[in-house]
Amino acid sequence: METAVDAAVQNNARKVVEVNIEIGEFTFLIPEQLIFNFEIASKNTILEGAKLLIIKKKGRLSCHDCGFEGESEVDPEIPPQIASFSPMKCPSCGSSATEIIGGKEFIITDIRAEVDDA
Ligand SMILES: [Zn+2]
Repeated sequence: METAVDAAVQNNARKVVEVNIEIGEFTFLIPEQLIFNFEIASKNTILEGAKLLIIKKKGRLSCHDCGFEGESEVDPEIPPQIASFSPMKCPSCGSSATEIIGGKEFIITDIRAEVDDA
């Protein structure tokens, strides 16, 4: 949120129209929740009325037992509140000796703004 405001101000933006962000699956952030929070937090700021576009990135795991490395999905049966604290299971061998190597991104990729000509 603050990052977006800072970036906009630094670029002499008058009004931000669009903010693109990328979130990894393993952040366990819920897009609808983010949009809701964004709308509240952007009230009376340069971001008010801006559209928040969210791109979801698949999580990536590395397995210490079988050497698997690649995309992984969160087990839909595990509630996110719990999944974020428990190790991910390897999709190849089922081991819990895994390491998250991707999917924790939470970055602003692009901001579109109307710039003051003056
Ligand atoms: Zn494995």
